[in-house]
Amino acid sequence: TKIAHELAAAIRSIPDYPKPGIIFRDITTLLGDARAFRRAVDELVQPYVGLKVDKIAGMEARGFILGGAVAHQLSAGFVPIRKKGKLPHETVRIAYSLEYGVDEMEIHMDAVKPGEKVILVDDLIATGGTAVGAVQLLRQIGADVVSACFVIDLPELGGRKKLEALGVEVRTLVEFE
Ligand code: 5GP
Repeated sequence: TKIAHELAAAIRSIPDYPKPGIIFRDITTLLGDARAFRRAVDELVQPYVGLKVDKIAGMEARGFILGGAVAHQLSAGFVPIRKKGKLPHETVRIAYSLEYGVDEMEIHMDAVKPGEKVILVDDLIATGGTAVGAVQLLRQIGADVVSACFVIDLPELGGRKKLEALGVEVRTLVEFE
């Protein structure tokens, strides 16, 4: 679509980052382009307008930027999911695998009330390791994860299918090989 092309054109591709053979999709150029940033947020928000959404959950760090904007547009709260050791209150922690290694992330145990409807937001889904970990954390604290949305999908890496297998609807704006 025209919008997908416009967004794709605002994303910079960096070869051999962070490792040889990997093409990093750099969204800082999209974020710095007022029109593209607004477009991306509007497109992420659009399917959820009129639905009951209590909270947006965003993954550190690019998920905070997009998730904060989406939460504002939907008049929802925002829940940060962070790398281990950053959140000050009691947390639930999970180990997760990502495209380039393993790590641990955390959420405050009281970040949602049981049954609250939550949408997960991040910039990109690759293998799905990060998003699957985030869904597991959210479910552990009682959230009803209704959907997950991403600006970029790398479909060859299979993340979308992993999330869908967990019963989470997935929405994405732009695909790269
Ligand atoms: P996954 O866990 O799905 O394999 O990787 C997705 C996570 O890693 C997301 O949190 C995303 O921000 C980050 N990530 C992996 N590859 C890229 C990339 O090429 N560009 C950007 N912007 N983020 C990436």
